[in-house]
Amino acid sequence: MEILLMGTGASDGIPALYGDSRVSRHAMECGGKDVRTRASALIDGKLKIDFGPDTLAQCIQHRLDPRAWETVVFTHSHEDHFAVSELQYSMIPFTTNEFCPYAILGNAAIVAKISDRYPDWPIENVETRSFQTYRAGAYEITPISSYHMIEEDSQNLIISDGLVKILYATDTGVWREHTWEFLAGVKLDALVIECTDGFVKSDYFGHMDIAQCVSTVSRLRDLGVLSSDAPVVTTHHSHLGNATHYELEAELGKHGIAVGFDGFRLKL
Ligand SMILES: [Zn+2]
Ligand SMILES: [Zn+2]
Repeated sequence: MEILLMGTGASDGIPALYGDSRVSRHAMECGGKDVRTRASALIDGKLKIDFGPDTLAQCIQHRLDPRAWETVVFTHSHEDHFAVSELQYSMIPFTTNEFCPYAILGNAAIVAKISDRYPDWPIENVETRSFQTYRAGAYEITPISSYHMIEEDSQNLIISDGLVKILYATDTGVWREHTWEFLAGVKLDALVIECTDGFVKSDYFGHMDIAQCVSTVSRLRDLGVLSSDAPVVTTHHSHLGNATHYELEAELGKHGIAVGFDGFRLKL
């Protein structure tokens, strides 16, 4: 399995669209790994995770062909992950496709928003619920409940190709106990985890700072869900976390956690 992090930024990206933070200014000046588009990922060039407003730019940047995508699975309906208007470009009149070329998996809010936007379009929507398993081509996807948008079933995603199993956990918050109980029976080969708030403690429950990210990873290792040598990589970084890529590496590296960047590839 190969995981490509197409984007690793939080909702307003880095440099943020209207951001004048130290981290945004640094990214604008230095470029490179400090520039982060909105979080999304791609498994084996076929299974797309989230479809945000930077998808076109990411396809150009990483030289990707969306015609190869077989499934698009959404984590939740926040607009940095779910740019519903972009889905139209896969079908007539923009292409010759009479049907949406990929199945779409998402929670009830996602399915409802797609149906509202495209009431008569031939799109295969599969409604997902946390802690149930769905087949998508060669993959099994098991969403687990994140603590992020309590008004919908916001999800992190366990993805298996039969050989390896990963957890993609963006927009996670600190999991509630029922999620921990489910995870106790899972063995992961790799983890992608958010570290949105960096060095800054936030009042919002739905994201994690460095301390929370480290403590979540430690608990997963203690439980045996993650072996000590299973790769862990971060995503969904906000400029408001007041941490440059280098500063994140210096801190998270002490805990065996790699810092993701746009274009990061993990082969398992
Ligand atoms: Zn987000
Ligand atoms: Zn979100």
